[in-house]
Amino acid sequence: MLLPEPIQNLINAFARLPGIGPKTASRLTFYLLRSSEDLSLDLAEALRTIKTSIGYCTRCFNITGAGRDLCEICSHPQRNPLQVCVVEEPLDVVALERTSGYHGQYHVLHGVLSPIEGVGPQDLKIAPLLARVQKEGVQEVILATNPSMEGDATAMYVQSQLRAINVRVTRLARGLPIGGDLEYADQNTLLRALAGRQEMD
Ligand SMILES: [Zn+2]
Repeated sequence: MLLPEPIQNLINAFARLPGIGPKTASRLTFYLLRSSEDLSLDLAEALRTIKTSIGYCTRCFNITGAGRDLCEICSHPQRNPLQVCVVEEPLDVVALERTSGYHGQYHVLHGVLSPIEGVGPQDLKIAPLLARVQKEGVQEVILATNPSMEGDATAMYVQSQLRAINVRVTRLARGLPIGGDLEYADQNTLLRALAGRQEMD
């Protein structure tokens, strides 16, 4: 069946997103076509501004307002700069912040090592982490990648890279559901995992 070009274009655009196949892409497109114009305009506006109004912290790579060098956490005077919690995504920062039980700083890797998907160490913010730990004299690095195969492999890789530097390296305690995502863990489980973190060796 031949579709008008604007429809096909939107289907193609949706299909480029992770986790969205051609079928879902078509469903979303026809849903927007049927629904009120407001929805499409709001969506278009949100898409347009996300890239121009959001930037990344130059120190920890968390999200921050565009034009700002440091994120709110990095520039907060009461956050301990000698304790750095390493997470996969900015959403993990949100999850840990929600517990109110962590007062150090963060470092966002922006992904995990995944040979299958061709993601290597150079694709993650690992080198800036090593540089930062050395330069700022960080005392503890808490590896808080997800308890998945890739998350564990990434934690082990980062730990091996940190071995040459004199820094304490810990990993969140087990108790988080295996294969689960930090961002979906409830606050108590996360707090327990944080409090029960263990040395990596
Ligand atoms: Zn920051």
